[in-house]
Amino acid sequence: MSETYDAIVIGGGHNGLVTAAYLARAGKKVLVLERRHVLGGAAVTEEVFPGFRFSVCSYVVSLLRPEIIRELDLPRHGLEILPLDGTFTPMPSGDHLWRMGDHARTRREIYRHSPTDAEAYDEYAKAMVEMARFVKPILSMVPPDPFSLDLPGFSRLFDLGNRFRALSRTNQHNLVQLMTMSAADMLDQWFETDVLKATMSASGIIGTFLGVRSPGTAYVLLHHYMGEIDGAFRSWGFSRGGTGAISLAIAGAAREAGVEIRTEAAVAQIKTKHGNATGVVLASGEEIGARLVVSSADPRVTFRKLCEPGDLPADFLADVDRFKYRGSSGKVNLALDGLPDFKCLPGEGAHLRGAISISPSVEYMERAYDDAKYGDFSRRPYIDMVIPSLTDPSVAPPGKHVLSCFVQYAPYKLREGTWDEKREAFGDTVVDTISEYAPNLKSLIRHRQVLTPLDLEREWSLSEGNIFQGELSLEQLFFLRPVAGWARYRTPLGRLYMCGSATHPGGGIMGAPGRIAALEILKDWERGKVA
Ligand SMILES: Cc1cc2nc3c(=O)[nH]c(=O)nc-3n(C[C@H](O)[C@H](O)[C@H](O)COP(=O)(O)OP(=O)(O)OC[C@H]3O[C@@H](n4cnc5c(N)ncnc54)[C@H](O)[C@@H]3O)c2cc1C
Repeated sequence: MSETYDAIVIGGGHNGLVTAAYLARAGKKVLVLERRHVLGGAAVTEEVFPGFRFSVCSYVVSLLRPEIIRELDLPRHGLEILPLDGTFTPMPSGDHLWRMGDHARTRREIYRHSPTDAEAYDEYAKAMVEMARFVKPILSMVPPDPFSLDLPGFSRLFDLGNRFRALSRTNQHNLVQLMTMSAADMLDQWFETDVLKATMSASGIIGTFLGVRSPGTAYVLLHHYMGEIDGAFRSWGFSRGGTGAISLAIAGAAREAGVEIRTEAAVAQIKTKHGNATGVVLASGEEIGARLVVSSADPRVTFRKLCEPGDLPADFLADVDRFKYRGSSGKVNLALDGLPDFKCLPGEGAHLRGAISISPSVEYMERAYDDAKYGDFSRRPYIDMVIPSLTDPSVAPPGKHVLSCFVQYAPYKLREGTWDEKREAFGDTVVDTISEYAPNLKSLIRHRQVLTPLDLEREWSLSEGNIFQGELSLEQLFFLRPVAGWARYRTPLGRLYMCGSATHPGGGIMGAPGRIAALEILKDWERGKVA
């Protein structure tokens, strides 16, 4: 067995790197082992085609915790977030809806569709900020365990209850609705403009195998509402150099604190002795010892692929098997010779600098889900597009552009055929769908990369291609993520911890699971449970 470390972190995604950085800053000797040739996991930038650099998977950022940016001094390590201004939704009628960062302009735009909705939009924005304020502290909290309430857990639950009681009756009502309703039903209560409801409800389905009319999606909508950039609520941004630059900034902070990082170092097995993790065996056969092991991979990979079944209790493994992944999204990355020209708003305006959402009606969104429910990719999918090269020209050659298309639905389990057979047909559907609104698109495409849920599983070890390492559905959140009774980053195997998006508070480029996990591990160290 080679050198012994205080901690080995499996996976060099952004959460694994955050955990490693915090442990090393506390004086621990840490090794990160990443399977791929490049760091970042799903927050990665790669030059997929010569001269064209893509945020291959995740493409926009908003949830990255401000305390991590501050504590790891990420701007000094190269982090720079550029604003993403608004969401433009083209409509088949030739009209459009364009919500911008500027509240007054957005209000005027909504007024054009419905004066009543323009009034309601202000009230809605206020209510959502209140809701986000209530929920947001939970993002930095270790989930209490209601199944074995210890004193700190009890006081956290008590505190949450008190904060709920302190909300106004209207806000209490709004919160219960957000926790229980579908995104579309919730928005129906506020607005009458179909395209507004459709495009807003889209945030409620991202990373889930649910439709905009499925209960529980209103919470997912709130989850995506909670981000902030430079203190501005609800704003989204690009990372200069792509989302991989975020991971590399964290890696820079980790290295500075002394972390050793190896790529092309796939872990094949977690070694154990007397009920404790003692190190890992790499796919190459190399064995590395450590006082503890932290996995940022999802529960199926961690407990079913890397652990021996005999090392874990059967009931825990049964819960691990019940954790739902059900990947439902794909990604199409296009290298373009020029900019798409939208029929409804021709030319190179600022509308191309924000998100461009193909979500023209609530019925369109629900029909897209209908296809997936029965095992097909959507014939007309929901697509969330961005053109980062307009804001950050470093990612494409001069005059050229990258177009990133996040697509839903692409169900992991197909009714007929395989994803290897259907990959290009899926890519064609995405291009055809966008071309209905921007007919010049096809003539601009130089290169195309199509990623299906199977590709996300094969290349990024995301089980069933779920972009958040497990669905963000209510029954898999907070003290239930990933398994009831084991939501506090510890596992039934001594000295094995988890720190990825499969743990609270879940997916997105947040870093929160990685940071809270590190702080919990350090507490165990202080209590002598690891030394
Ligand atoms: C297509 C797509 C689009 C997305 N869009 C957005 C977005 O726009 N904004 C946003 O905020 N979030 C988005 N997300 C979600 C976000 O990217 C993820 O939630 C987040 O990056 C996960 O980080 P992580 O560190 O927890 O896990 P991961 O990024 O999954 O990292 C885990 C790492 O572990 C490695 N690994 C796994 N098994 C092993 C092993 N045996 N040995 C060694 N290494 C191993 C993997 O290779 C990977 O690098 C998107 C995700 C995808 C896939």
